[in-house]
Amino acid sequence: MNLELSDEQAAVRQLAEDFVRREVTPHAAAWDRAENVDKSIVKKLGALGFLGLTVPEEYGGSGGDHLAYCLVTEELGRGDSSVRGIVSVSLGLVAKTVAAWGDEDQKRHWLPRLTAGDAIGCFGLTEPGTGSDAGNLATRAVRDGGDYVINGTKMFITNGTWADVVLLFARTGDTPGHRGVSAFLVPTDTPGLTRRTIHGKLGLRGQATAELVLEDVRVPARALMGPEGKGFSIAMSALAKGRMSVAAGCVGIAQAALDAAVRYAGEREQFGKPIASYQLVQELISDMSVDVDAARLLTWRVADLVDRGEDFATAASKAKLFASEAAVRCANNALQVFGGYGYIDEYPVGKLLRDARVMTLYEGTSQIQKLIIGRALTGVSAF
Ligand code: FAD
Repeated sequence: MNLELSDEQAAVRQLAEDFVRREVTPHAAAWDRAENVDKSIVKKLGALGFLGLTVPEEYGGSGGDHLAYCLVTEELGRGDSSVRGIVSVSLGLVAKTVAAWGDEDQKRHWLPRLTAGDAIGCFGLTEPGTGSDAGNLATRAVRDGGDYVINGTKMFITNGTWADVVLLFARTGDTPGHRGVSAFLVPTDTPGLTRRTIHGKLGLRGQATAELVLEDVRVPARALMGPEGKGFSIAMSALAKGRMSVAAGCVGIAQAALDAAVRYAGEREQFGKPIASYQLVQELISDMSVDVDAARLLTWRVADLVDRGEDFATAASKAKLFASEAAVRCANNALQVFGGYGYIDEYPVGKLLRDARVMTLYEGTSQIQKLIIGRALTGVSAF
């Protein structure tokens, strides 16, 4: 693996860094307090091609490889994880999955809109009764002539109230377990689909997270994406790449925490000297720096495997597991460096810790990542 960035990769990273410094970082604290990112950011992200990375240009995408995608995702995560998550879901979980599994009509209909930021996507897998055990979901889609009629409830759906389309997973037929699950592209203005914003989140407060309720939602059969019964494989393939994106966002959080801690340690004086001169403070900073490098390298390795067409799922679980735990550790260390000032939201590190915390929970908890890695190594499923 070549660890030097190409000119294109370095340029897209610079573009993302400049964009985040100008359009995201100055507003992140206010969006967090208001529990609302300014939605106009989505069109701006689309205009720069950040919502079309790795999507083929013929469908409105901006091309690029997965390392470029990770570099942009890291920069967004460094600025505001709420904004990073909007992109990771609309592009990473929805558009990229439509590009991989959609038929020609679905790709032509949704991809140009999603990549331009004219439409937003959300990913509807989790339900009130099934989180880690997603293959046992209860939402049902019943064939009725040329339509499917869908009933069920989806929980914790990122972009839920903003989205124009939900990539929805529902049970078709009577096959139990994950083999009976199918994927659908459901426009969110379809009658019978209602959405409720979930308020009071610990972190990612700027993001629209919602509960979706589907009551006799009727969609034409062409809303089915991929073969009937293939939905769980589609969801898992989306999440494998999604974990790379979460890992990259976590590298951004960890880097932001490190940068803030180094800056503050140089400025803050106690006992007549900058706190940076104390060995125990340097230990906090040094541990963060090792975490940042290790998390970034694990993430880049996934991108490299994806771009070379190699198997990447286990590497993605390792990167997501390590980077998410590292982001929490780094944000927590940064808060320690800031002392009491880290505990109030005039300073950025408290938000980094709150935002980091969910990364060990969604797209598969840390325990689930360990079970995936353990299964790959032993050949035995412990689920
Ligand atoms: P549970 O599955 O009930 O787990 C509870 C605890 O039990 C965890 O510690 C877990 O690790 C542990 N556990 C469960 N099974 C095992 C096992 N076999 N072995 C060991 N430990 C186990 N979902 C979507 O579909 N789309 C989204 O866009 C989305 N966005 C989200 C945004 C936020 C802010 C949050 C909080 C969640 C989001 N989710 C989304 C849902 C998320 O993926 C789930 O919360 C996650 O998969 C965990 O499921 P759960 O919350 O039901 O926890």
